[in-house]
Amino acid sequence: MASTEDFYAHLRAELQGIREAGLYKTERVIATPQGAHVRTTDGREVINLCANNYLGLSSHPAVVEAAHDALRTHGYGLSSVRFICGTQDIHKTLEQRIARFVGTDDAILYAAAFDANGGLFEPLLGEADAIISDELNHASIIDGIRLCKAQRWRYKHNDLADLERCLKEANEKGARFTLVFTDGVFSMDGTIARLDEIRALCDRYGALLGIDECHASGFLGATGRGTPEYRGVFGKIDIITGTLGKALGGASGGFTAARQEVVDLLRQRSRPYLFSNTVAPAIVGASIAVLDLLEGSTTLRDKLDANTRYFRQAIRDAGFEIKPGDHPIVPIMVYDAVKAQQLAARLLELGVYVVGFFFPVVPKGQARIRVQLSAAHERADLERAVAAFRQAGQELGLVKGAAQ
Ligand SMILES: *Cc1c(COP(=O)(O)O)cnc(C)c1O
Repeated sequence: MASTEDFYAHLRAELQGIREAGLYKTERVIATPQGAHVRTTDGREVINLCANNYLGLSSHPAVVEAAHDALRTHGYGLSSVRFICGTQDIHKTLEQRIARFVGTDDAILYAAAFDANGGLFEPLLGEADAIISDELNHASIIDGIRLCKAQRWRYKHNDLADLERCLKEANEKGARFTLVFTDGVFSMDGTIARLDEIRALCDRYGALLGIDECHASGFLGATGRGTPEYRGVFGKIDIITGTLGKALGGASGGFTAARQEVVDLLRQRSRPYLFSNTVAPAIVGASIAVLDLLEGSTTLRDKLDANTRYFRQAIRDAGFEIKPGDHPIVPIMVYDAVKAQQLAARLLELGVYVVGFFFPVVPKGQARIRVQLSAAHERADLERAVAAFRQAGQELGLVKGAAQ
């Protein structure tokens, strides 16, 4: 047996390998609340274009106040899982409110969407069943499916013909129940799943359809109900998972919303729900306030939509190529990984915080800057950001000089 010191040496070698591959992730330290502008610990104030703070609720006064209220009325923590003594009235209220918002019978809360996906498949499906998953689904979906004994198929990203091939094969193999699962929105490209066509295909083969709405709940669709509303199939999705950690306030927590039978069985058998602490009261209270805001008015999602349209057009006018679409995730294509990093570094000097993505997070030769817009951004912020992009892009020879 190797020594324990060898173990630590082994870890140092692994870390060195990650560094040498240029893949070592560092964390920028922020000294302010999350918002349109943040200050880093070196005192620099920058426009933030890389948060999942789509609706600007991460530091919204009404949300912060609701969290304070819940702290006062319901305490700091419950020190219990839900089924022992971790369920308060507000947890039941929030579950009902989420279900109403996304159009299902009921919902069940988790500590994170990662847990919602991790604990979803194993209790519902077994060896006799089939799960068909988009190849670009989120890591938590992949992990959740791994924990389940159902037979697995993967279809080419957003490819309905390939999905149909999988449905046929599952059928031929005699699968009892088949569940098709996809991200509602894919985070690297802002691609919106074609749920109307996927639903029709599932109906033809008698398959269930589940979606992960982490990059959609609260803002996609005319009233922010998410991808099903955007694609005209609201109320027609069997299982919806989502997060409280992005548009819906940005703290933490996740949920699964579905028919009563599904939620009831998850409460009995879903391991991350049964064996992990309840969501903190402050988050629960604030999340109810978030849903009050979103059900009362579409102002925030409308502003996000206007910001998205403005930025997509303006960055194109500045000479950059973007992936087309409607989503506030705007991939600005640089292709070359080194240039993408140089662009992000120069933008930071110019007061704009963005992150470059390159292999293996995105395919080789597809390096990009992923901008994420927010309802917290004012037009002046976006104008400054585009001007910085134009300047840095010209300096790096990515766009033609003196275009405007
Ligand atoms: C962010 C994200 C998650 C994880 O959400 P958490 O609540 O932070 O665990 C799961 N699925 C998708 C598609 C996501 O984008």
